Amino acid sequence: MTACQNGKRPKKYGSFNYRYSKGKMNPSMQTEKYDLAIIGAGPAGMMAALRAAECGARVVLLEKKHMPGIKLLMTGKERCNITNSETDVRKFAAHYGKNGKFLLNALYHFGVTETLDFFHRHHLKTKVERGGRIFPESDMAKDVHGLFLRLIKENNVTLLTNCNIKKISLKHNTIEKIILDNGEVKAGNYLISTGGRSYPQTGSTGDGYIWARQLGHTIVKPEPALTPVLMKEPWIKELEGLSLKNVTVSVYQNNRKKDERFGEALFTRSGMSGPVILDMSKRIGELLVDGPVDVFIDFKPALDFYMLDKRILRDLEAQKNKAIKNILPGLLPQKMIPVMLKLTGIDPEKKGHSMTKDERNKLRAFLKQFPLTIKGLLGFDKAIITTGGVHLKEVDPKTMRSRIVDNLYFAGEVLDLDGPTGGYNLQVCWSTGYLAGESVAKQRSVKQQCKSPEEE
Ligand SMILES: Cc1cc2nc3c(=O)[nH]c(=O)nc-3n(C[C@H](O)[C@H](O)[C@H](O)COP(=O)(O)OP(=O)(O)OC[C@H]3O[C@@H](n4cnc5c(N)ncnc54)[C@H](O)[C@@H]3O)c2cc1C
Repeated sequence: MTACQNGKRPKKYGSFNYRYSKGKMNPSMQTEKYDLAIIGAGPAGMMAALRAAECGARVVLLEKKHMPGIKLLMTGKERCNITNSETDVRKFAAHYGKNGKFLLNALYHFGVTETLDFFHRHHLKTKVERGGRIFPESDMAKDVHGLFLRLIKENNVTLLTNCNIKKISLKHNTIEKIILDNGEVKAGNYLISTGGRSYPQTGSTGDGYIWARQLGHTIVKPEPALTPVLMKEPWIKELEGLSLKNVTVSVYQNNRKKDERFGEALFTRSGMSGPVILDMSKRIGELLVDGPVDVFIDFKPALDFYMLDKRILRDLEAQKNKAIKNILPGLLPQKMIPVMLKLTGIDPEKKGHSMTKDERNKLRAFLKQFPLTIKGLLGFDKAIITTGGVHLKEVDPKTMRSRIVDNLYFAGEVLDLDGPTGGYNLQVCWSTGYLAGESVAKQRSVKQQCKSPEEE
């Protein structure tokens, strides 16, 4: 990795000492003609840079923030859910809905198995958790981040950070150069991997959509997705931080069930988040257009009403001289108990033996159908990803090359691809980034041929 001449200062990210520029251009960078200039050094851009460089391409990676991959460091609550253990390519692609078909080529070329081989080959051990979620064994996103920084350096990728792109100059349907506020970059090919619009403080502010549109591409309207939901109930803040495991969450509109999921959820200060809620947020957003939406939580999905009643009776009988507030911890998370007692009106000091049938029914209903009313969804600031982006019909799925501009490629979240939680969104970046980087390098202009990892 060549850093720029000015403003160098070493900084430690993860386990790796890495030098970055302050956007000042080295004169040789101005005159060098790269094979590939990549805009956006997130997971997709870094993977593309790495693969192209491994295959012998001269690559420059342009990043507007002070360092690459800021969002990558935040992924999976800083543990980085790298991918998912679903190795059947078609089943994997089905998680992206109708647009998943576009990913098939990229997944067959560099899918879950190849991604894991890549990390393992570079000594990053992984582990599989619930729902097939794959994390680094160290539980540290910064290890994934550090690995990429090290590899792009070892493969002589030129990295330019704090970089402000003013214009992408197009001539005869070919990108001629990128004009920065302090110079210009010329390359045979260009790749836009600027991500979506979610968590804009990480650098993903949707710039790529603007350029793609200016270059003639259609942009499917970007919307926040995998977003936490806001609830109307004012007491929800009392539950902040409470994490629920193995619950079923159902979504209703006009008394009709519209969606139901099982798994983990989390109470926030003003609503709910966690995998189950995030995965349902797209559907909730669609329903909200037509009117109010209610949510019901089943804390005991393994027990039907009859079995739950038996369980409650057993608990009351076993602890009949205890106050109900002290019996409930066997049935509910501690933080939920004051809320439950307030909402049902049950006296917390009431002894187990004197609970009435009506009170038991209220408790049972609370445990099986805890109701909440949705106020709305949070926006791009808190959305995990963006739906929409560069229209897939205008990109060749075999190469990630634009069908509109001759020497332009796309990779990662800037494309109209979004998956559920569980490692599916980073896999888009690994697969499309790898394919785009290799496709560029395989062109005639790049002499050295790409070898598969097994051949190396
Ligand atoms: C809190 C959080 C947790 C997540 N956890 C997971 C997870 O565990 N697993 C998972 O699969 N997915 C997760 N995701 C989603 C995943 O992080 C994204 O899908 C992924 O980062 C997209 O990668 P990308 O390279 O396409 O874009 P980004 O990661 O958004 O990177 C784009 C890069 O381009 C740069 N850029 C933008 N504009 C310009 C410009 N004008 N000039 C130069 N550079 C520019 C940005 O600064 C940024 O560095 C999470 C997302 C969030 C917000």
